[in-house]
Amino acid sequence: MNFDDTPEEAAFRAKAREWVQANAPKEYEAELSQASLGRITLKKGDMVEVGKAWQKKKFDAGWACLSWPKEYGGRGATPIEKVIWQQEEGVYGKLTQPFQIGEGMCGPTVMAFGSEEDKRRRLPKLASGEEIWCQLFSEPSAGSDVAGLRTRAERDGDGWIINGQKIWTSGAHYSNYGLLFARTDPDAPKHKGLTMFFLDMKSPGVEVRPIKQASGMQEFNEVYFTDVRIPDSQRLGNVGDGWNVSLTTLMNERMSIGSRLATGFPEIFAFCSDFVTEHGAALDDRAVRAKLADWAVKSSGLKYTAYRSLSALSRGERPGPENSIGKLVAGTMVQDIATFAMDLQGAAGALTGAADAEVGGRFQTMWIGAPGTRIAGGTDEILRNIIAERVLGLPGDIRVDKNVPFNKIPTKGR
Ligand SMILES: Cc1cc2nc3c(=O)[nH]c(=O)nc-3n(C[C@H](O)[C@H](O)[C@H](O)COP(=O)(O)OP(=O)(O)OC[C@H]3O[C@@H](n4cnc5c(N)ncnc54)[C@H](O)[C@@H]3O)c2cc1C
Repeated sequence: MNFDDTPEEAAFRAKAREWVQANAPKEYEAELSQASLGRITLKKGDMVEVGKAWQKKKFDAGWACLSWPKEYGGRGATPIEKVIWQQEEGVYGKLTQPFQIGEGMCGPTVMAFGSEEDKRRRLPKLASGEEIWCQLFSEPSAGSDVAGLRTRAERDGDGWIINGQKIWTSGAHYSNYGLLFARTDPDAPKHKGLTMFFLDMKSPGVEVRPIKQASGMQEFNEVYFTDVRIPDSQRLGNVGDGWNVSLTTLMNERMSIGSRLATGFPEIFAFCSDFVTEHGAALDDRAVRAKLADWAVKSSGLKYTAYRSLSALSRGERPGPENSIGKLVAGTMVQDIATFAMDLQGAAGALTGAADAEVGGRFQTMWIGAPGTRIAGGTDEILRNIIAERVLGLPGDIRVDKNVPFNKIPTKGR
């Protein structure tokens, strides 16, 4: 791959840069630059409202959901153009957080399996930020093993009645629509009795209960369904084919997480360049330098692995299981870096949120958020299983419930 812009890419970059310079909400620049890795709150404004305004501005100018087709609200851009845009959007890209699940996962699933009418009615509103979508997959006993989900969808005339519970649903408290994965046939083996739907989050019988996190934030929720009725027209894909539909969502999830992998390396490098311990400048310490060198090598590896996927995408190939490497390496790296920075800060490393915490407590916030990164979108162990089985060709995980009807799988009295 050639890493320099072609003349066309350079022209695209100049256009993007000029537009961002002229239109970005500069009043939030400092705050967004300082925001630690992970989730963001704004002191001077509501993150969702500021994000919606930025998304709408981008949409009106043709800079929203870049890789989506134009007729559904996108720009029909190439994967390389999307990366160039992300580079030029810079810190303002952090404002797109509430729309990432919609753009990266729900939108592509509706595009692949929705009716033409739904695509034209729903997707432009998603792209413009007018409507936010969430992903209703995980349940208390179905996370890594999402095919073990128990939320029921039962036929009722020309619609379906939904009963059950989801958990860890990011953004459900401000979402308009949700992509709902439900069980329609408990007599079939677990992967075969599932169906995908989308639903209006304001439907009667939907109850969203926010979960308070260790960081003090409230980003995800429990969602309960009691006799929620949805029309059959909101089914995505065939009845019983939900597993296949979910693979589109999950593949896009991994790609969309992969495209915005943060490692914490620029932050730790900047911190060590300024920080002075009782023994002198941190950067003069050989142990610190050895750590930084190690992380520099890892971040280059991640960058070029991501470029490799990008090259594959631009050749029209589907990104494969090797993409799991990125999140696995970056997730542990963020946690290691945050731990190291807090160690280096000595007693001050125990402070968080206080005015006298080093660099506004950004490494403490990073440290609290890091385990979530290592769980969301596939835990470390699941990613290792994927790499072992599908990249290295090692023997598969033991699956005792394969081909067993779902309602015959033994459970502990549930
Ligand atoms: C920040 C965040 C945001 C999220 N947002 C959403 C969302 O918007 N929508 C949504 O649907 N879900 C969301 N999730 C849920 C997420 O998808 C699940 O937490 C994840 O899939 C893990 O499932 P679990 O929590 O049930 O853990 P479990 O699957 O119960 O895993 C528990 C432990 O067992 C290990 N384990 C499980 N199976 C295996 C195996 N076969 N081999 C080896 N080890 C194994 C796991 O690695 C883990 O350490 C979010 C999670 C987080 C942290």
